[in-house]
Amino acid sequence: MRIVTVVGNRPQFVKAAAVSRLLRERADELIVHTGQHYDDELSRVFFDELNVPAPDRELDAGGGTNTAQTARILGALEPVLAELDPSLVLVYGDTNSTLAGALAASQAGIPTGHVEAGMRSFDRSMPEELNRVLTDHASELLLCSTATAMRNLEHEGIRGEYHLVGDVMADVSLAFRDIAEERSPILDQLGLGPGSYLVATAHRAGNVDRPERLEALVALLGALPGPVVLPLHPRTRERLTAAGLMDRLDGIRVVPPLGYLDFLKLARHARAVLTDSGGVQKEAYLLGVPCVTLRDSTEWVETVEAGWNTLVDLDPAAALAALELRPPEDRPELYGGGHAAERVCEVLGAYTQRL
Ligand code: UDP
Repeated sequence: MRIVTVVGNRPQFVKAAAVSRLLRERADELIVHTGQHYDDELSRVFFDELNVPAPDRELDAGGGTNTAQTARILGALEPVLAELDPSLVLVYGDTNSTLAGALAASQAGIPTGHVEAGMRSFDRSMPEELNRVLTDHASELLLCSTATAMRNLEHEGIRGEYHLVGDVMADVSLAFRDIAEERSPILDQLGLGPGSYLVATAHRAGNVDRPERLEALVALLGALPGPVVLPLHPRTRERLTAAGLMDRLDGIRVVPPLGYLDFLKLARHARAVLTDSGGVQKEAYLLGVPCVTLRDSTEWVETVEAGWNTLVDLDPAAALAALELRPPEDRPELYGGGHAAERVCEVLGAYTQRL
């Protein structure tokens, strides 16, 4: 059985870290890297630190608008899928690489497996939401992180086969938590003590592409009680620089995007995390760190329901109030307890045997 896994950006490298090595014990897996993220900070460090098998093909199809990028990846994938001739294409999450992978596979008559199927923020203005919905419709095998995601698929009448497998990112977070603790020097490097600082990340189009939202983001970060560490995504840096707003981050500890181990350790010991990232909301929960989400919706609704995540959009007063909340005693297991990749591999094995 040959499976082609299509990955292209940071969170997908983390997800592949959970699945690819396990999958290779039972299948002929090949990784295609679309080049959506190609720099060392957002790509290579994850392959190195998390032991993701090196890509078998690199498409170099990054850059440009969502539409142009999706089209380029789609065009580049067609001959690669024809050449590699897999039984199934595996895609992760909600990026342009996800949608292009699912669409190219469908058009070639190859079944698609979608990991993190059924996640919904119900905000169609997010490019990620569009990618999620369309990818689910194009997929045969829908591998869900949560029961909510399973219900979303049912409500939408999606035709594929659904499986609740848990969350593969949780596998990685749980597996690397103690390794990060041992290996990462980040707290010493930044001169920070556990529990004494906040960590913030932001890169969603809705927060950084519109000048008024970007300015509101900067104002919110400036209103936070310090120290605040901001591992700055290149997209956000570019937008801030173009808008002449970098100077307004004077009071913030701006650092480059961190490798996985450094980020995990930094987040684990933070007083709270403020983020517009999906993956980081989930990781904060798994680490037992309160999360303040810089959006007005989330697909990781269970973290909010459990009382560990507060949606504040870009409202500084709401963010400050959220930081004062005491997290509940309880932190139920929401994401599969570190066994999602095993379940993904079982489901893939059973499915491809039936082909
Ligand atoms: N991450 C990282 N370094 C950073 C910021 C985030 O390693 O400086 C990791 C984080 O631990 C998580 C993933 O990147 O596993 C989340 O990716 P991102 O926020 O880019 O995407 P999203 O989850 O929002 O799609």
